[in-house]
Amino acid sequence: MLSLLLARRGIHVHLLEMHQDLDRDFRGDTVHASTLEALEQIELADKVLEIPHAKMRSLSFVTPSQTTQVVQFGRLKTRFPYVAMMPQAAFLETLLDEARRYPNFQVSFNVTVTDLLEKKGKVVGVRTNSNDRKAEITADLVVACDGRFSRLRNYNEPTVTPTSAPMDVAWIRLPRMASDPENETGFHVADGKICVLLARENEWQIGYVFPKGNFREMRSEGIEHFRSGLGQIVPFLADRASLLRDFSDIHMLNVRADFVETWHQQGLLLLGDAAHAMSPVGGVGINFAIADAIEAANILSPVLASATLERSHLASIQRKREKAVRKMQKLQAVAQNHIVSKALTNHEFQLPLIARLLLVLPFIRDIPAKIVAFGFDQPAIDPDS
Ligand SMILES: Cc1cc2nc3c(=O)[nH]c(=O)nc-3n(C[C@H](O)[C@H](O)[C@H](O)COP(=O)(O)OP(=O)(O)OC[C@H]3O[C@@H](n4cnc5c(N)ncnc54)[C@H](O)[C@@H]3O)c2cc1C
Repeated sequence: MLSLLLARRGIHVHLLEMHQDLDRDFRGDTVHASTLEALEQIELADKVLEIPHAKMRSLSFVTPSQTTQVVQFGRLKTRFPYVAMMPQAAFLETLLDEARRYPNFQVSFNVTVTDLLEKKGKVVGVRTNSNDRKAEITADLVVACDGRFSRLRNYNEPTVTPTSAPMDVAWIRLPRMASDPENETGFHVADGKICVLLARENEWQIGYVFPKGNFREMRSEGIEHFRSGLGQIVPFLADRASLLRDFSDIHMLNVRADFVETWHQQGLLLLGDAAHAMSPVGGVGINFAIADAIEAANILSPVLASATLERSHLASIQRKREKAVRKMQKLQAVAQNHIVSKALTNHEFQLPLIARLLLVLPFIRDIPAKIVAFGFDQPAIDPDS
């Protein structure tokens, strides 16, 4: 997103990606209202919505005895009152296609950034490796958007504050059938287990949440045990749990949430998960990364164009974004500690009564939807930047 926004402003951008392509599963296939509104500003929303997708209009909290709608996007004042569930690869390809229209944009796949190039205490580029061919690329600014296992964030021994994530997630997918019940998208909780169900066009994407580090134990209990656990939490999936042949159909994702105290050095800026790894709680990591990119583009476009970039510009990007990120990470930690952890240990867990009461009050009930859809302090693309 940042590459595209800078390229539109005539800035020379070289985007480096270590994989051969963008086609990877389970990285969060959610496109939120905030992102669609930003794309609408640059006349790209309709093109993105041409990608086959499902519209997620609400999220429920389902226990064996109760279903509570906890998030309803339908009442949000936006042209996009839903989360568009689409393959992230297709979404990113659309952004890339748009960026490729600009001759000052370049993308290289299969290129791993291995290190930073440094001169007199300032970052001046990166070292790369591609099929054992090493190279150096110089730049006025390196932007590290290399995710929650960021290598570049480790420059200059940063202070990293963990923001609690006492869980991991096993992702699976199973067919979605026309006869499946409505309102099943959301959180299913039963017998000390949690599943997150996301409705894609023709399948269910299922996040099976378990206490951190327990995957080996789950494997040792065997696939049959896993299948019957899944059927216990989401009974209507029991008839197709046998489609999970073995643990190679189950993708373990290590959940990590933290905050790097300083996102910038001379010549280097961290954004997205590299600066603040987001927990999957609420499924908001992607719109937060995109909001970072929008804020960065607003501030960087003029100063890169006039070659007047100073470290203070990078600091102001962090200043503009960090409050929103800290607020969201605090909320995620509360949800993890008071709901996720308790649901994983209490076999009779129900959503607290106070939460259920608040969710029917007219002024309060739309707050969760607003936070998931827009985060906090959502920036707009500056038309003059
Ligand atoms: C289990 C799980 C489920 C989640 N579900 C959701 C969800 O449903 N919705 C949501 O919004 N968020 C979700 N999140 C959070 C979301 O995935 C992240 O917050 C988001 O992807 C961050 O985007 P990013 O661009 O900063 O990093 P990433 O999406 O991780 O992208 C980093 C990119 O950098 C590349 N890269 C890494 N190292 C190098 C290198 N050395 N050289 C070159 N390239 C490199 C990677 O290949 C990758 O393409 C989830 C997270 C987890 C762990």
